[in-house]
Amino acid sequence: MNFDLNDIQKATRDTFKEFVDKRVVPKAQEIDEKKEFPAELFQEVADLGFFGMRYPEDVGGTNMDAVSYILAVIELSRGSLSLAMATTMQSLMATYFLYRLGDEEVLEHFKKALKGEEIGGICMTEPNAGSDLMNLQTKAKVFETGFELSGQKTWVTSAPVADFFTVLAKTDTTDGLSIFFVPTNLEGVIIGKNIDKLGVRGSVTCEVTFDSVRIPRNYLLGELGDGTKYLKEVLAEIRIMTAGLAVGVATAAFEDALKYSKEREQFGRSISKFQAVKMRLADMAVQLETARHYVFYAATLSDKNLPRMKEAMIAKLYASEAANAICDSASRVLASYGYATEYAQQRYLRDARFTLIGGGTSEILKINIGKELGL
Ligand SMILES: Cc1cc2nc3c(=O)[nH]c(=O)nc-3n(C[C@H](O)[C@H](O)[C@H](O)COP(=O)(O)OP(=O)(O)OC[C@H]3O[C@@H](n4cnc5c(N)ncnc54)[C@H](O)[C@@H]3O)c2cc1C
Repeated sequence: MNFDLNDIQKATRDTFKEFVDKRVVPKAQEIDEKKEFPAELFQEVADLGFFGMRYPEDVGGTNMDAVSYILAVIELSRGSLSLAMATTMQSLMATYFLYRLGDEEVLEHFKKALKGEEIGGICMTEPNAGSDLMNLQTKAKVFETGFELSGQKTWVTSAPVADFFTVLAKTDTTDGLSIFFVPTNLEGVIIGKNIDKLGVRGSVTCEVTFDSVRIPRNYLLGELGDGTKYLKEVLAEIRIMTAGLAVGVATAAFEDALKYSKEREQFGRSISKFQAVKMRLADMAVQLETARHYVFYAATLSDKNLPRMKEAMIAKLYASEAANAICDSASRVLASYGYATEYAQQRYLRDARFTLIGGGTSEILKINIGKELGL
């Protein structure tokens, strides 16, 4: 694919490609099977500067453009969507609000997180509040000196290894959601059940309970009740990033299927010579290239600071649906080998399902694209 990349973007892509081929691809199956947080590779990704790519230099970032960031995301998820999940969480959702709204004390944690010295997580989803976030029930009681958090969160990525969480809760003094910084070593922070998952199994995900957790005033990030406003600031980036994750895993599935189709012989010739297989691979290529180009287009809007919420949703919707169709097709090309746990294809198929959920389900995206169209 020849999207018009500049030298810095090409160098970023090549750095991450080399790292992924050398260090991630050989370990990807093991990461999936062990179902453990890939600590060593996580630190190596930190050392590559990935966590600071989208943050300015004065806070420890490298101030890279969105297209470069997406190139890195695509490479990481081409190697292992589990690793990509854990590391993109650290680079965006787990750290953004600390950077944007934290005081000096909070910013210190942010700076450590950019170096991989601390790990963050985001606690939005609850057992009864997924897409309907405004219905969340976690409460922050307001005191003169701070807050007391009580509630139950679920699906918290990196929870068992996290040093801090960004938590969405409601107070009884304001309507709307508020955002809090919560170190995980505070009394009352309880990391619960590890959720055993279909895919992205090396990205550990847990329930978290806040049992009357006392936090000081400065751990409120931004203004009380303004959480939704702050969330909206970063939502387009999250969706473009999730679209990048989808393109990465789809690339791996497509490349494996293409290679296999040339090597596998049946009826005395390579299966790639059969028109049905050729057409399947052509369809996959069309979906993959379309998704990839649209994701870069959305990232370019981000770099030009242009409105991009609709395009980010289109990118995420199209790329995640395309990735799932591509992984399904790739699995058919490999047939029985696509069904064997020894080969990567089944992992791509399982992992790609995540991209249909994170950053908003397809249904929620369609509803919101409709709203952008004035419907
Ligand atoms: C691997 C993984 C990691 C995650 N990590 C995190 C994390 O770190 N932090 C965090 O806070 N959350 C995390 N999540 C949770 C994720 O954000 C939610 O799963 C997501 O918001 C969807 O919520 P839900 O699963 O409760 O689905 P629901 O909202 O219950 O939706 C169920 C179904 O109903 C449909 N639906 C819902 N509302 C409507 C509507 N109005 N119109 C039409 N259809 C509708 C949905 O599209 C979906 O098909 C993670 C999830 C996964 C799978």
